[in-house]
Amino acid sequence: MGSTCYSCGRKVKWITTTRGKHMPCDPDVVSSEDCEEGDLLVREDGVCVPIKEGYPKESVTGYVSHFATCPNAEQHRKPKTKTKKELEEEDDAITRDAEMEMGVYEGYLDREDE
Ligand SMILES: [Zn+2]
Repeated sequence: MGSTCYSCGRKVKWITTTRGKHMPCDPDVVSSEDCEEGDLLVREDGVCVPIKEGYPKESVTGYVSHFATCPNAEQHRKPKTKTKKELEEEDDAITRDAEMEMGVYEGYLDREDE
């Protein structure tokens, strides 16, 4: 598996999420406090943490999804080799996964709070 983005040529770190998806991320470890709302942070162990107001409750370190930071993100969405329908299905799958991971992560937080 390649270690650079085919679109912008930057280095990416591939992380396998808890649902078995391969996610390209920026290679630098960051804190959730340094992320912007709407970013998706992926922990080393593959748990995805969507960044939004008031969440996560505690600082989390991980890698920012390259989908959020790629300067050529538009090209990610419109590669010539894929049809519009395929891309829409991919987007749906990513959104669905993020929602699923969020559920997993919130469960994890609840357990920690006890
Ligand atoms: Zn890129």
